[in-house]
Amino acid sequence: MLNIAFGQSKYYVDNLSENVKRGLRQKVRRGEQSGQAPTGYLNDKLNKKIIPDVERFRLVRKMFELYATGNYSLKDTRNLLAQKGLVSKNGKVLTVSNTQMILKNPFYYGMFLFNKELYQGKHEPAISKKLFDKCAEVSARNAHPMKRGINKHVFRGLMKCAECGCGITSEVQKGHTYYRCTKKKGICAQKYVREEFLAEQANNIIKKVSLSSEWKEFMLAELDKEQASSFHSDELFVQNLKNQIKSVEETLDRLLDAHLDSTITSEEYIAKKQKLLNQKIDFSEKLKDFERKGNRLLELS
Ligand SMILES: [Zn+2]
Repeated sequence: MLNIAFGQSKYYVDNLSENVKRGLRQKVRRGEQSGQAPTGYLNDKLNKKIIPDVERFRLVRKMFELYATGNYSLKDTRNLLAQKGLVSKNGKVLTVSNTQMILKNPFYYGMFLFNKELYQGKHEPAISKKLFDKCAEVSARNAHPMKRGINKHVFRGLMKCAECGCGITSEVQKGHTYYRCTKKKGICAQKYVREEFLAEQANNIIKKVSLSSEWKEFMLAELDKEQASSFHSDELFVQNLKNQIKSVEETLDRLLDAHLDSTITSEEYIAKKQKLLNQKIDFSEKLKDFERKGNRLLELS
């Protein structure tokens, strides 16, 4: 008797967990998000949706665009946006850390984080993932100012000294980049050169190189050929992207099943899912970009 009772309760528990799983799956797939809408969005309480807050939505996008240029610090970005009138829902100017939180929130490219887990949302994205990634790059670069120095030596490694054949090295002095011969082979009379001067020399050399008319004909013919075959390859390209998106979606489903069956740990699930969702967004954006470009070409012709 006891056995039967246990058996029944096991049946009941199994069934319950199946139902819980199903409910969870459905909720996840619907992309439902509850809670406060982030800056730039509003809670549409009637329809239980999160919708763009038109003016702030535009300004938040502007924030990403400005920061992505790499020309503005977090504080500069915050100040510029404050000038344009971006304030929180309580009418307060955003703090620098508010600004940073916005720039790091995947919500703006159509996802949302819930209990540290990334989900695909149903709300309208304010920006592309491409722009979001660009901001993350800028942020990483600003956090390591040493890396910025690399850009200050654009000609390094490209040249040899005309007099002695040694490599050219560079250094920054009082905000200017100087290049000089390493003089490793001994005596060489060459002095320092400022980068601006070097750039001018390089420019003059490049100007002298021009395309011969034969070469031009050849290139034009090649371009024609390419255009002719591009219709076919466009189709393949689009189909390929669609297949990749589908395959990521299938992997996501299997991943969720594995997680619900406790085959993988929560940490593994969350990490893999985040990677897959971001991949999916990348493919979808590529597809959208491509379709937009295709439409423009059709309009032009
Ligand atoms: Zn030299």
